[in-house]
Amino acid sequence: MRRRAHTRIAAELSRKMRLSKEHEKILLDAILEPDRWRSRNFRVSHHYLQYDIILSHLKMARKAYLENNMPSCLYHLGIALHFLQDALIPSPREFRQAHDRIEARTEDPNLLHEAGLREAIDVGFKTSFPSPKFIERALLKVKWTYDEQHIIWKAAVLSASIAAAVFGSRNPPDGLEEEYRELKKRHNRRILAASLTSLLSAAGGSFLILQFSEFSILLFLLFFLFMPLVIFHKFVGSDFEFYDIEEEAEWYGIA
Ligand SMILES: [Zn+2]
Repeated sequence: MRRRAHTRIAAELSRKMRLSKEHEKILLDAILEPDRWRSRNFRVSHHYLQYDIILSHLKMARKAYLENNMPSCLYHLGIALHFLQDALIPSPREFRQAHDRIEARTEDPNLLHEAGLREAIDVGFKTSFPSPKFIERALLKVKWTYDEQHIIWKAAVLSASIAAAVFGSRNPPDGLEEEYRELKKRHNRRILAASLTSLLSAAGGSFLILQFSEFSILLFLLFFLFMPLVIFHKFVGSDFEFYDIEEEAEWYGIA
């Protein structure tokens, strides 16, 4: 997406969030920043959804927000929104002509007049929820199209709902903290169980190596590496319930 389109959406967002002039400048500057990286040969495609980059910048934005560091918050938000908005346009690698035509069209101020843009931003704010899960679900639904009007509308709605999530309530939902503490205790018990089981595996392995020294390398790999990996994966790595709630707790700064 080109400068003018990124800037228009960011300016509308800034108006909606009632940012000061100084803060608005930071957001408007940050939303153009990734294109400056590209000119320095930063090899990351803008027109495929950069899920990990977007999510990590949004988490940094949220953390800065909780720490009342608005400049850092707006900087990371701007970077994330740039990549998010670019992902709505077909890639120039696969669709060169369509890409150029659509990018040029998105710059047209008449494409989505001011009122339309404001309405899109309002819709985004109303449909937002302050949770990393909400953002992840929203990101997974991002898909490019050939419809310029839809691109601008979607870019504004998504940018607004994600900004609203970052700036959402600082108070964790009821019960989150307790649930997190409980699951963390259970997770720690799983780590302990995995460690003890791995030790048993190593002890068993040592015994067998002494008995069957001709297979020592094989036995070592099996009992000292393979088994512990499987054990840790089973007990610790697959504790998704904990990782989910940990992410949620981090969003509210209580992890
Ligand atoms: Zn870009």
